[in-house]
Amino acid sequence: MEAGFLPRAGFQALLDTLHRAGYRCVGPQVRDGAIVYDTLDKAGALPQGARDRQSPGQYRLEKTASPRYFSWANGPQALKPFLFTPREAMWRAERDVHGAIRFSEIRPAAEMLAVIGARACDLAALRLQDRHFLQGRFADPYYAARRKNIFLVAVHCTHPADTCFCASTGDGPRATQDFDIALSELDDGYLVQTGSDKGSAITAQLPLVPATDAQRRDSGQEVQEAARRQTRGLPSRNLRDVLFANLEHPRWENVAERCLSCGNCTSVCPTCFCHSETDETALDDHQSRHVRQWDSCFTQGHSYIHGMTIRADTRTRYRQWLSHKLGSWHDQYGRSGCVGCGRCIAWCPVGIDITEEAREICGGSDD
Ligand code: SF4
Ligand code: SF4
Repeated sequence: MEAGFLPRAGFQALLDTLHRAGYRCVGPQVRDGAIVYDTLDKAGALPQGARDRQSPGQYRLEKTASPRYFSWANGPQALKPFLFTPREAMWRAERDVHGAIRFSEIRPAAEMLAVIGARACDLAALRLQDRHFLQGRFADPYYAARRKNIFLVAVHCTHPADTCFCASTGDGPRATQDFDIALSELDDGYLVQTGSDKGSAITAQLPLVPATDAQRRDSGQEVQEAARRQTRGLPSRNLRDVLFANLEHPRWENVAERCLSCGNCTSVCPTCFCHSETDETALDDHQSRHVRQWDSCFTQGHSYIHGMTIRADTRTRYRQWLSHKLGSWHDQYGRSGCVGCGRCIAWCPVGIDITEEAREICGGSDD
């Protein structure tokens, strides 16, 4: 629901209102040549005028004269690290003086967190992670505690990178659901939409003015143009059958000759959820912590079972990643595991492009 127009000078009021409501705000900021999320207290820390240039294996920022805070596509992070944290202790075991072992849960801190600048593709990935972590037979209490307390300020994307293809997966560039507030950025400010009661409570305290028809028209056109500019794409059909019918396709060997099995693609992917769990023993030998951390289907250890590694070579690891992401996700979650953010293309050190590999193995667009 449209709430009004927030002049850019009023952006600080959004942060201040969220702070007063008890949230720590995190927002996009330039760190080490990339746009990443960090604690955001002042609107002046946002990446005003920054543009990202992304291509296979390349991510570069440049400064423009644009007054906009969000005239870029995305950085290496999505919402994933805030909810499915890269590393966390889940329980501890302690041995008392009589030798009895006691287990105790380590409960996650449930911080109230407001994320500023979520993209439509990242909200689509969030829905997939919700399916995985919350809607299966066993809800993950660690993810659930953080999910309950997150406040999402989406910004519709108007500056897709060359690597983006969310229009072809149906996940962007306009955010349509799962936000508390959504912003359409124009040169002089923001059209503000609310998506929840929590969002309405915040926007009611902002210095909004009525939006004009010209602002509505311009914001709609910018998002449409962002979709039109995307040149990459994945076929919209379910690729499961064609992928599984091509498990011996020569392209798997071809991609294995380029792939380093580094796992970057799975780290930056907002939907990947593989993890490993280990027990870390304290030096006194009386305590241990059970720790979960992100893992990747590209590591040798990930498919180690019963004394052997199931996927011992890069060919079978890349095949596993692609055929799960674009194939068997349909069986598990009713859709593909790719939301078209393009991160795996830009952050792959050798520039492997998921859309190109899928095309080579599965054929053209929608045939
Ligand atoms: S597979 Fe690549 S393009 Fe698709 S959601 Fe993951 S990182 Fe983004
Ligand atoms: S596809 Fe690229 S990012 Fe992924 S494991 Fe291979 S080299 Fe690394």
